[in-house]
Amino acid sequence: MKRPFISRQALAQITEEFPTPFHLYDERGIRETARALHQAFAWNPGFKEYFAVKATPNPTILRILQEDGCGLDCASYVELLMSQKLGFAGPDIMFSSNNTPAEEFQFARQLGATINLDAYEDVAFLKETAGIPKVISCRYNPGGVFELGTSIMDNPEESKFGMTKAQLIQAFKELKELGAEQFGIHALLASNTVSNDYYPELARQLFELAVEVVAETGVELDFINLSGGIGINYRPEEEANDIAAIGAGVRQAYEEILAPAGLGQVKIYTELGRFMLAPHGLLVTKVTHKKQTYRTYLGVDASAVNLLRPAMYGSYHHITNMDRPDGETELVDVVGSLCENNDKFAVQRRLPVSQIGDTLVIHDAGAHGFSMGYQYNAKLRSSEILLQENGQARMIRRAERPEDYFATLYGFDFEK
Ligand SMILES: *Cc1c(COP(=O)(O)O)cnc(C)c1O
Repeated sequence: MKRPFISRQALAQITEEFPTPFHLYDERGIRETARALHQAFAWNPGFKEYFAVKATPNPTILRILQEDGCGLDCASYVELLMSQKLGFAGPDIMFSSNNTPAEEFQFARQLGATINLDAYEDVAFLKETAGIPKVISCRYNPGGVFELGTSIMDNPEESKFGMTKAQLIQAFKELKELGAEQFGIHALLASNTVSNDYYPELARQLFELAVEVVAETGVELDFINLSGGIGINYRPEEEANDIAAIGAGVRQAYEEILAPAGLGQVKIYTELGRFMLAPHGLLVTKVTHKKQTYRTYLGVDASAVNLLRPAMYGSYHHITNMDRPDGETELVDVVGSLCENNDKFAVQRRLPVSQIGDTLVIHDAGAHGFSMGYQYNAKLRSSEILLQENGQARMIRRAERPEDYFATLYGFDFEK
């Protein structure tokens, strides 16, 4: 069973104040997850989570995470700018970008962010454009396939990210020559893993790599960044990841591989996005139409512009009818209003028989939800609301208005 983090009654009050659709975030849940993560890695004194801004780029959310000890992982100019405006100090910003414009490296350097190089070729590019910092990280791609037990989790060989082992070793040697003093190793080898074994297995591979790289280059290894990739149980029949077990699994690998090699000072970093936020956001929408042809369609006031994952990846997002949690069910497609047939939040889903006006919540929309939004069909971005720990709801981003859409058009054969 998947339960919304808010009651029917409390949500009804919120939808009276704020028109649907909107994303609703749960402050309490966000803080609990951040604390559970820190608890799971408390054995590593230098541990730090750099929340992946791209998952939920809202200043209020980022500030909550900041209060609970997190830094930020950025990959673009505006993400860096948002971090600066929020007062994140340089060392609390990781810049894990790829195919990076020179101005972004320059801005990251100006902020004192830790730069994580995606490519061997970036060593020369960074030197020319922004200079080599004292602390630097490189992103590793082992190639081949990434397996857990007998199942293939992902295909690093086909991934555009990271560098080969030989390139990483060469990059460390050159960066050291050029004045870098402390080094990090980073890798992201699988996405949305619903398994307590992903991080421990990744850690094992990176720790073994680290021992080899340090022996070969003599660099001072400061941190290993396990990046993102811990997933959530989007489907109700899936079991949620256990972060305490994951932390313990990484610790075991650390004590077996790193510590005996004299690398027992190395800090563990993470850049989790989905795991931190996805379960703590609901897309709240109302049923506006019901249509019967060869199938039954429930039309809602949200569409793929508010949550792209189902249309883009065919992802499952659980849906609860807040007004009719039980009762007789019917087979429906839940659809938005875009002129695109992939604009469906659910296909042939069994849901309680719904009526126009019912409030539906689409679960696990707190990460890679609002942030993947777009403006197709000249749809405007909707608002974001925070359910605060005190039970009060507060708007943390207003919905766009037609004037926001037109703002970039005025003066180009288009008058106010
Ligand atoms: C997307 C991304 C993350 C976050 O991934 P999640 O799956 O949301 O945890 C972290 N680091 C980098 C470099 C990324 O590209």
